[in-house]
Amino acid sequence: MTIKENVSKILNNVDVAKATSSYSNQSVMVIAVTKYVGADKAREVLNCGISNIAENRTELFLEKYEALKDLDLTWHLIGNLQRRKVKDVINLVDYFHALDSIKLAQEINKRAEHTIKCFMEMNISGEESKHGFSVNELSDVLDDIEQLENIQIVGLMTMAPFEATEEETDVLFEQMKNLQVKIAAENRSNIPCTELSMGMSRDYQSAIRQGATFVRIGHEFFQGEM
Ligand SMILES: *Cc1c(COP(=O)(O)O)cnc(C)c1O
Repeated sequence: MTIKENVSKILNNVDVAKATSSYSNQSVMVIAVTKYVGADKAREVLNCGISNIAENRTELFLEKYEALKDLDLTWHLIGNLQRRKVKDVINLVDYFHALDSIKLAQEINKRAEHTIKCFMEMNISGEESKHGFSVNELSDVLDDIEQLENIQIVGLMTMAPFEATEEETDVLFEQMKNLQVKIAAENRSNIPCTELSMGMSRDYQSAIRQGATFVRIGHEFFQGEM
């Protein structure tokens, strides 16, 4: 398969998932995660009608940002961000998907030159190895984030555990949707929380059926090319 064929297969799968989703009029942003490839291969995907690009590490983000700055793109940083690197990157990012501590939120707030759109990363399955907020600490966390005027929480982000079955993943995605709706209903000023960033190559179709509005797809774009 060529990159062009991969893109059209993915976009078709997204349409099918939307058509069978429990939610009507769902808009889904398809993000190409380009961490496995260089800027040239990334550019091929972006030339096929994809305009959302993501990297998971600061160095790779900055490298791609420089190499692709001639294109009109929406830039996503999806991986864990060390506090000391916030100042290098945060003002270039359109969406940051991995807000996982109050200390990180405070550092972003301090370095921000404009409102920074963030997803709160949730560790809803309770895996010890994983980053993210737990459901139990949420109400305290939201109280703290509400004080940070340069941060806007656009939604929640999660990753299903690698070993989870399809059924377990579905349950997790459904819990995420319920949590997102609950937080949105609190009507906190800088926490609209209307979006859900979930679904990767192996599970984006289930994620969309459970209400995902941002899917982060990596290797499926580059099948046959890596
Ligand atoms: C790499 C990565 C993805 C994409 O994973 P694929 O399985 O290649 O689709 C999505 N989200 C995060 C946070 C990642 O690091």
